[in-house]
Amino acid sequence: MAGTLPYGLLADGMVCETALGGLHCREDGALTDAVGRCSGDLFALGPMRWGTLFETTAIPEIRRQAADLAVLLKERCGRHVREASCETVLPG
Ligand SMILES: Cc1cc2nc3c(=O)[nH]c(=O)nc-3n(C[C@H](O)[C@H](O)[C@H](O)COP(=O)(O)OP(=O)(O)OC[C@H]3O[C@@H](n4cnc5c(N)ncnc54)[C@H](O)[C@@H]3O)c2cc1C
Repeated sequence: MAGTLPYGLLADGMVCETALGGLHCREDGALTDAVGRCSGDLFALGPMRWGTLFETTAIPEIRRQAADLAVLLKERCGRHVREASCETVLPG
């Protein structure tokens, strides 16, 4: 649908569709662009993973994916917070 985020991402080559529908992504849901690169900044959940993953439409599957993705993002955020805190210069 023109004007929607998925449409814009597809049009810009930031994500790409599989031959079966859904979007190309890694096992953790990280989306790959039109030339197969993975930035690690965009993730798919649920039916958007269709074509890469068969069992991905029922709520229990989506809940599992969401929980796994939350753990992954929390680990990444934790790393960034620790790195940032090392560089912090307190005033005075
Ligand atoms: C008829 C039917 C029966 C099902 N029965 C079951 C079942 O019994 N058990 C089970 O586990 N699963 C069932 N499923 C599957 C499950 O409901 C879906 O896979 C799941 O809801 C998908 O979740 P989602 O968040 O990806 O998408 P959705 O639930 O479709 O949510 C997407 C949301 O985004 C909104 N949206 C869309 N475009 C825009 C936009 N441009 N801007 C803002 N908002 C937007 C939509 O209004 C919607 O609220 C069923 C699915 C269908 C179609």
